[in-house]
Amino acid sequence: MRKGLRSLRVACGLFAALTGTAAFAQQKVDTVVTNGRILTVDANFRIVEALAINDGRIVARGTSAEVARYAGPSTKVIDVRGATVIPGLIDNHFHFTRAVERWHQQARFEGVSSRREALQILAAKAVSLKPGEWVMVQGGWTPRQFADAPGGFTLEELDGVAPKNPLFVQEGYSLVYANSLALKAVGLNPADGARRSATGLVSFQPPYALYDAMPPASPAQLDQNLTDFMHELNATGLTGVYSLGQSKYLAERAAKGPLPLRLWETLPVFANDPASAATAAAVIERSRPNQFDGQYGIFGLAETLYRPFFDLAPRKDPWPAEIMNEYGKLATAAARAGWHIHEHVINNSAVTDLLDTLERVNKTQHIDRLRWTLGHVYDISPANIARAKALGMTLGVHGAAMQAGAHMPLRKIADSGIVFGLGTDATIVSHYSPFVTLGWVVSGLDVGGNRVLDETLTREEALIAHTRSNAYLFFQENALGSLEVGKQADLVVLDRDYMTVPAAEIKHIHPTLTMVGGRVVFSAAK
Ligand SMILES: [Zn+2]
Repeated sequence: MRKGLRSLRVACGLFAALTGTAAFAQQKVDTVVTNGRILTVDANFRIVEALAINDGRIVARGTSAEVARYAGPSTKVIDVRGATVIPGLIDNHFHFTRAVERWHQQARFEGVSSRREALQILAAKAVSLKPGEWVMVQGGWTPRQFADAPGGFTLEELDGVAPKNPLFVQEGYSLVYANSLALKAVGLNPADGARRSATGLVSFQPPYALYDAMPPASPAQLDQNLTDFMHELNATGLTGVYSLGQSKYLAERAAKGPLPLRLWETLPVFANDPASAATAAAVIERSRPNQFDGQYGIFGLAETLYRPFFDLAPRKDPWPAEIMNEYGKLATAAARAGWHIHEHVINNSAVTDLLDTLERVNKTQHIDRLRWTLGHVYDISPANIARAKALGMTLGVHGAAMQAGAHMPLRKIADSGIVFGLGTDATIVSHYSPFVTLGWVVSGLDVGGNRVLDETLTREEALIAHTRSNAYLFFQENALGSLEVGKQADLVVLDRDYMTVPAAEIKHIHPTLTMVGGRVVFSAAK
């Protein structure tokens, strides 16, 4: 092997000698990004001015003068004129396809702190559609984010902004506000008001009666929605998301490639009882883990490995042994086959029970190199953080905790040294904007300016968690997550400086350009 490498190097040297001067001239690249304040987010958090990019990868970095040598006549030079540049942001927990399926009908309140503005957004969406077409907000907001007038929506407000279109606004999974046309469409009486519990609309998760009343998107519409939603996420600074679930249309689009957004998906397995768990374990054991090919692929198992272990409200009693034993069997199968698990767990008591099980699994089947992620962890004790770290595990901190108003122990998490990545859990229980998330963890404030965190992160810690640490969660630390030579050129140019803008304004930062693998996938100038 060694010998082979050496002779290859000799051969290259010989080739260079034969081609003469070209071998000694500076290599020219296809793209240069220059005059920036580029936060590389490498191990030293080094800041450089310029990057030379060739064939999607960074080949050099340094001062603008140093990197200028890489520019030839056919090099595309992107002069960012002093703007701050960061690595592409990665979201480690995203319900992506759910948003895509209804994207053409959706209005969103990401970062919107004024009720008046929210109503204007609804009105603008309604007039952009034909009369009778549905308008919806698929969650991602809270009544307290409207600093001028907190609260949900009245029938008069919703009828006022959409007099000709059925309209509903979901508040998480459990509540929905609908206008008269939407209520009538599902046989409800508008005289009872706009606010409904989603359970009253026969549903646990989205208010299905309303979803069922809407015509499904045609295949062509779905295709357009996918394009538009990926573009929207690029415009918010995202270059990769962990899309929980699997979908044929994503696989088909990826096959046509290249995608403007790196997408990780989950293995389709379903374990609801001991019998289906046995089947799922067999599927897990015979499936190849981490099929991500650089832009797309099934990565891991998420977000409830064994459905009966689904942690929502805090419990008085530990999770029953018969449930945790089944979980242990599935986890053992996953560990044996080398699968990553990203497990939904909200309360510290459930974290304790899960870690008890995983420590037991680890005695017979090592999990400590698999970087399994405890996702959500609104509440987690320092002792449990240390136990998870000892198992080589990681944490997923999600914007949904802001929406829930959870007082997450972020300082304890950061100081523990465990690797933790940021994400959202979009789109129903969370916004999807990474800058809303970064603003929340740095300022401790929600979108409405309410203090929801007692413990916050430094700007550096937050940015690392949204980039490099997520690359680590996905075993991509050699390719993604920081702007270093040899890595993919996934980057975002910002309209203001993330490091110095007031913390409460981080949520208002907008990308002006987003690049994935050296390709510009979003430009505000266009
Ligand atoms: Zn979850």
